[in-house]
Amino acid sequence: MRILVVEDEIKIASFLKRGLKEERYVVDVANNGQEGLFLAEVNPYDLIILDIMLPGTDGISVCRKLRDSGIATPVLMLTARNNIEDKVRGLDAGADDYLTKPFAFEELLARVRALLRRQQEEKTTCLQLSDLELDQLTHGVQRAGKPIILTAKEYSLLEYLLLNANQVVTRTMISEHVWHEDFDSFTNVIDVYVKYLRNKIDKGFKKHLIHTIRGTGYILKEDV
Ligand code: CA
Repeated sequence: MRILVVEDEIKIASFLKRGLKEERYVVDVANNGQEGLFLAEVNPYDLIILDIMLPGTDGISVCRKLRDSGIATPVLMLTARNNIEDKVRGLDAGADDYLTKPFAFEELLARVRALLRRQQEEKTTCLQLSDLELDQLTHGVQRAGKPIILTAKEYSLLEYLLLNANQVVTRTMISEHVWHEDFDSFTNVIDVYVKYLRNKIDKGFKKHLIHTIRGTGYILKEDV
């Protein structure tokens, strides 16, 4: 996990860097808003710790500019003591959480963990293509809002196709990722399961999502 700390007070910045590194985070420090913006635009951070009181471009403006340029990285704002106005402006500018100075490092860590966890969940649990949705947490599958009941094997196959959506997957790839070592490559079991899946996912829908690539395998994509 890679974290960007934007803080002009050298003592606080190095204290944060040292503490976060001990917790095995990779940490970069920017000492002003401009540098923070630059680093956030060129590196893929998992989290940004952003002080509001910065010389030049302040934390609120940095946050707003990040959101304006489409960077959705979670932002934890550091605000001055009990300044409600700053907290509100920070959240309005797109910050995800804030922490009031002075803070206990343990609390900062807890908030960092919570934000990273939230982001991780948003990132990985729901796979989607067109109106087809698969929730990796609940194993629920829906097409156009209608629940679809799949067997365990059909679910694994669909999950694999969704993880590789818009790419051709060969029968060998499917056998290696969905069937494991008990797979007998001389059978047509993959084609049989794809047929089952088609009956449940595509049958009755105008737009078909599972397509056969003759002689090669399959591709899950929106038909255009
Ligand atoms: Ca400051």
